[in-house]
Amino acid sequence: MGNKPTTTSSRGKRPAEQIEQASPPAQQDPQYKAGAEGTLLQAILDNAPLGIWFLGIDGRLQFVNSTFCNAVGISEERFLSAHHYVEVLPQEISANCIRSDEECMAQSAPHISQEWLPFVDGKPHLLEITKFKVLNVDGTPRGLIGLAADITERKRDEERLRLTARVFENTLDGITIADKDGNILEVNEAFSRITGYTHDEVLGRNPRFLQSGRQDGYFYKEMWSAIAENGYWRGEIWNRRKDGELLAELLTITAVSDETGVVTNYVGISSDITLLKQHEKQLEHIAHYDALTNVPNRVLLADRLRQALAHSKREGSLLAVCYLDLDGFKLVNDTMGHEAGDTVLIEVTRRIKETIRGDDTVARLGGDEFAVLLLGLRAAEECASSLNRLLDAICHPIEIEGKLFEVSASIGVALYPGDEADADALLRHADQAMYSAKQAGKNRYHLYDAENDQRARSHHEFLKRLALALVRKEFVLYFQPKVEMSSLRVVGAEALIRWNHPERGLLVPAEFLPAIEGSMLEIELGDWVVATALAQLEQWHQSGLPIELSINISARHLQAVDFAWKLKRRVLRHPGVPAGNLQIEVLETTALEDIPKVSETIERCRRVGVSFALDDFGTGYSSLSYLGRLPVDTLKIDQSFICDMLHVKGNRAIVQGVIALAQAFERNTVAEGIENEDLFRALREMGCEYGQGYGIGYPMPAEELPAWLERWNRAPFR
Ligand code: C2E
Ligand code: MG
Ligand code: MG
Repeated sequence: MGNKPTTTSSRGKRPAEQIEQASPPAQQDPQYKAGAEGTLLQAILDNAPLGIWFLGIDGRLQFVNSTFCNAVGISEERFLSAHHYVEVLPQEISANCIRSDEECMAQSAPHISQEWLPFVDGKPHLLEITKFKVLNVDGTPRGLIGLAADITERKRDEERLRLTARVFENTLDGITIADKDGNILEVNEAFSRITGYTHDEVLGRNPRFLQSGRQDGYFYKEMWSAIAENGYWRGEIWNRRKDGELLAELLTITAVSDETGVVTNYVGISSDITLLKQHEKQLEHIAHYDALTNVPNRVLLADRLRQALAHSKREGSLLAVCYLDLDGFKLVNDTMGHEAGDTVLIEVTRRIKETIRGDDTVARLGGDEFAVLLLGLRAAEECASSLNRLLDAICHPIEIEGKLFEVSASIGVALYPGDEADADALLRHADQAMYSAKQAGKNRYHLYDAENDQRARSHHEFLKRLALALVRKEFVLYFQPKVEMSSLRVVGAEALIRWNHPERGLLVPAEFLPAIEGSMLEIELGDWVVATALAQLEQWHQSGLPIELSINISARHLQAVDFAWKLKRRVLRHPGVPAGNLQIEVLETTALEDIPKVSETIERCRRVGVSFALDDFGTGYSSLSYLGRLPVDTLKIDQSFICDMLHVKGNRAIVQGVIALAQAFERNTVAEGIENEDLFRALREMGCEYGQGYGIGYPMPAEELPAWLERWNRAPFR
């Protein structure tokens, strides 16, 4: 029994047949020497690691050893004096004890049972109890001998083992146990599930048979030296399943040593990360390839470009970095939808791939922009022929839903060496050259030329910034008052655009309008001016300020086919504004570009009630016959004649002439650029009807106009 006795039980009377004389247990006196045979026997019984007792057939205990007494904390006397031993044992086990005694007496074989019994340590211990019958010489039963072994620890160990075994079998990780030579002793089910090999197929084999050949000998050498050094190795490894498929595993190999430090076993624990690896690969693909066309994206291109540069440096060959932008793609997208646009992009990619060589790279940079790297060129001429083939391949019509569409490409090219730039700069140069190819008429390539292309590029950047300004609502209208000279009455204002630039401050038209000339933005911005002016006009009218408003319209905007139509729709949206209160100023030079067309547009707008003025009049040298044909209401005398007319006689004569001309044709006159009161008076005397200029009022934000008006009405020219 596990418990060492702490006290010596006082020994009472014992069966004479068995033990002659009481004696102390060996624990109390290690020097104890056996005297008589009985004493020796007693000592053996008392020191046996088993509980031992003898039970007479009358149910009385005739003998119980110290081991048992000490373990359960019941003295020998109490045991031996009890009529039945169960009287001194806990009640709950008595029934079991009696039943097993009876069973033992009824059978010839030893009876084995297990029983929980509280010990002196306060804990229940599990005892394995073996009982066997003792017979008299005549065969009649004399009693039974009981032996009790404390198996609590053993049970616990068994339990632990069972648990370990269950984990071993049920874990999702493959487990391999090998001997010191690496030969497999045991694998679990997960191992079989992962590798496809059954337990029996791998027993005794070295796990080497799983190798895929993906790692070289050096890899395994490193692995084993790590195990020797640190006792373990952990890493990713490519193995092969039984069906031949590759298997990615996250593997930990641990060396198991005995007490003396000698390695006796190796344990490998591996999880299947094949799916994870595939996923990783997919992610990598997504990160490096364009989803629509499946060619490299900007990220991978940067990589390839660096490699290509290194290659061309090594080989002394030419490298062409081409930036390719499709012409006419927006039209397909806008008219046929994005799906058609995608079809075009895929088809163009296919054609580029077909044209270039295997070592060359095509990448999609986004939208309808591509980059092509042409490698290993021997001369610039070779590059030219490649580029021509590319242009040819792309400009063939593409069929979409039965319709043929034509797109072409504008290609900018930076050649290395020659252009001694780094990868980023080469691509940027090619990009700049591409804009020059666009400007030169599209469907062509253009070799990078530092000065010109930089200009084209920055122009393009500026345009993009301007488009953004429109989106961000950075444009504002300022208003310059216009007065009737005879009465000093304010009759209207001219709307003048400003760009409220977040860094550069308020910019005047000369700083940005020239840049948008001829672009789509010119029309968009013009539309914005019309809409904003009308909204402002309506607001003033509603707040009791019934003035007229002039707006400036560019040549191209006015000549757009739908200008009159769009203007009409806009005007109708503001029923609170009498259309007659809106005037459009057109540069005289614009009106003269295409008199019939401009006249027609003006007529159509006048039908809505909008009036027209010829701006900067006098600079366009209109002949009298032209003026007669243009249906305008007002002539605005250009400020260059006004500003110095008091000193320059010629200019004064021109101004006088224009006023006379206007009167003859029954047009109004407006003098602009009146910077002081002297000019104002002179012009009024000359018969000019209306005036505008810093001398009267500077252009100002809308909200400042009412206050200015009040001041002017109180004290003009203050
Ligand atoms: P503009 O239509 O002839 O406008 C008169 C210009 O002279 C304005 O310049 C105005 O600020 C300036 N000005 C007014 N009084 C005086 C003065 O007493 N002395 C001097 N030296 N200048 C005076 P701003 O605003 O810089 O506009 C310049 C031109 O830009 C305008 O000439 C017009 O052609 C164009 N512009 C302005 N706003 C728009 C617009 O909304 N759309 C279009 N398409 N063009 C616009
Ligand atoms: Mg004007
Ligand atoms: Mg003007």
